[in-house]
Amino acid sequence: MTTPAPPISNPALRKFAVIGNPVAHSRSPFIHEAFAAQTGVSLVYERLCAPLDNFAGTVKQFFDDGGVGLNVTVPFKEQAWQMAKDGLSERARVAGAVNTLWMQDGQLKGCNTDGIGLLNDLERQGQNPTGKRILLVGAGGAAKGVALPLLEAGCTKLHIVNRTVEKAMALHAAMTDAAPTYALSLSAGGLDSADGQWDIVINATSSSIDDKAPDLPGARFAPNALAYDMFYATRPTAFMRWAESAGAAHVCDGLGMLVGQAAVSFQIWNGVLPDVGPVLIALRAQLHANL
Ligand code: NAP
Repeated sequence: MTTPAPPISNPALRKFAVIGNPVAHSRSPFIHEAFAAQTGVSLVYERLCAPLDNFAGTVKQFFDDGGVGLNVTVPFKEQAWQMAKDGLSERARVAGAVNTLWMQDGQLKGCNTDGIGLLNDLERQGQNPTGKRILLVGAGGAAKGVALPLLEAGCTKLHIVNRTVEKAMALHAAMTDAAPTYALSLSAGGLDSADGQWDIVINATSSSIDDKAPDLPGARFAPNALAYDMFYATRPTAFMRWAESAGAAHVCDGLGMLVGQAAVSFQIWNGVLPDVGPVLIALRAQLHANL
C-alpha cells in the first residue's frame, strides 16, 4: 500500500520524506517541519510507504522526482545500507544499517544518526556512558546503530543480548571486526546471559510494540541506574514498568533519541543543527494529547 503524497503547493520547495512500512504513525514530518520553522529552512516533508517488495524502486523514484533526503525506518534500514554501500559514512558502514539517505554529485549517500541521537539524549539526561556497564538488549537495526557509538563513548562493558542468539553473536563479530580496539569491552549472548549488575540497560527490541518487556533473567540495576527504552508511547512502556519494579532509579523512553537522530539528519541535509529541546517538549505534549 502506498500512502498518497499530500499536494505540494510550491513545487520549488526542497522535498524530504520518511520511508518505511508501515509509516502512517511516524512523527518525523512534525519534527522536521518544527526544525525548519526554527531554523528558517523552507521544505516539505512527507510520509512515504514503500511496498515491502519495492523499497529500491520507491527510493529511486523519489530522487528521480527531485527529492533531497530520506529518513529510513523499519523494516528498510538494512536495504538502505545495501543501496548506499558505495557512499556510506563511517558510522553507517560499521552499523550495517542506514537511516539517512541523500544524493550528492549523482551518488546515493547513507548515514546512520541513531547512535548520536541516543548519545545526545543520554547526555541531555546527565547520563554519561563513560565508565558504565551497559546491557544492550536487541540485535536488529537499532542495536546495530548504537553499539559502536556506545563503545566509543567509553563504556567499560557492553554486553549485547538477543532473543535469537545467533544475531547477537553476528553483531558481536561485526563490531569486533570493525573496531578491534574495543574487543575486550564487548560480549554477547542470549537473553539468558543478561545476569549481572548494570548501570544502563537499553531496550533496542521492538517488544514494547506488543506491550511486552524482553525476559532478562538475573539482570539487576546498579544504584542510580538508567533503563532506556528506544520505543516511545503515550504512557510508560512495558520495559519501563518492568525496570522500575526491578529497581532502576531512572527510566525513560526513546522520544529524545527520535528527535536527536532527526536533528543530525536535518544538519546533514540543510547544514544547520537545530535545537532539540523545544521540539521534544512540543512532541511530548502532542503525544500526551493523543494527536
Ligand atoms: P528490528 O531490526 O526489526 O529488530 C527487532 C529486535 O527486537 C530484534 O532484536 C528482535 O529479536 C527483538 N524482539 C522483537 N520482539 C521481541 C520480544 N518480544 N522479546 C525479545 N526481543 C524481541 O527493529 P529495529 O529497527 O532494531 O527497532 C527496534 C526498536 O527500536 C523499535 O521499537 C523501534 O521503534 C525502536 N527505535 C527507536 C528509535 C528512536 O529514535 N527512538 C530509533 C530506532 C529504532 P529477534 O532477533 O530474536 O527477532
